[in-house]
Amino acid sequence: MNRRTKTAAALAVVLILSLGWLLYPAPGVPILAYHKVCEEDNLYAVSPGEFEEQMRYLAEHGYTAISLRDYFAAASGERQLPDKPVIITFDDGYDNNYLQALPIMEKYGMHGTVFVVSGYVEAYPGYLSWPQIADMLQRGTEIGSHTASHVQLDQISLEERRQEIVESKSLLEQHTGVPVEFLAYPYGGYDQATEDILREAGYIGACSGEPGLNQGTDHAYALKRINIPHPKWGLWEFRLRLLRADIYSKLNI
Ligand SMILES: [Zn+2]
Repeated sequence: MNRRTKTAAALAVVLILSLGWLLYPAPGVPILAYHKVCEEDNLYAVSPGEFEEQMRYLAEHGYTAISLRDYFAAASGERQLPDKPVIITFDDGYDNNYLQALPIMEKYGMHGTVFVVSGYVEAYPGYLSWPQIADMLQRGTEIGSHTASHVQLDQISLEERRQEIVESKSLLEQHTGVPVEFLAYPYGGYDQATEDILREAGYIGACSGEPGLNQGTDHAYALKRINIPHPKWGLWEFRLRLLRADIYSKLNI
């Protein structure tokens, strides 16, 4: 082999190894973060057509939807996770999660977790009502808290945080009769003091806005998510977002 052939062969090996590294799935559970599912030209809105494409992609690629409760039960050895688990979450509690997203998820055998701002329920147009939340629960949706009034928790006093965290949990539980054990931080803001309040209030986990995959319960109150905003490049963007979380997980960042 001359020098040029040797260099080409070495490059080919590096390329093949990098591709293998890229394509070999990282351990860890992806948690997708949606907001609205509706026809709106808005960063936080995924159209029903695009959402259906994404759910079909997950179903066709062997993903099984699990709840956060399932995730924690598996981490403590109470149950086993399916081969390719995915957690599908929605922030804010929009009524289109019920009207648009739920029927599409059901069509592909998926279910999700909705983080409701308890003070928005039946208070403003476009948000979920109590009967809608009850029906979602009945149909396999998990309900979590997104605080009482959508405030950034690490920006308010400890007393106000406690109120937001405790009030939203008890109001949701009063109306649904089901324990609320998870919270998503509005604007992704949290700190150690917020985690302590959540733990005291009986939450067992919380979702942040940081990208990546999740393993075990070491970061139970800082679960990573894959943000799914209004796509600019269709399904490719969705696939790239899944891949990026996978790479972050492999690099441990
Ligand atoms: Zn929010």
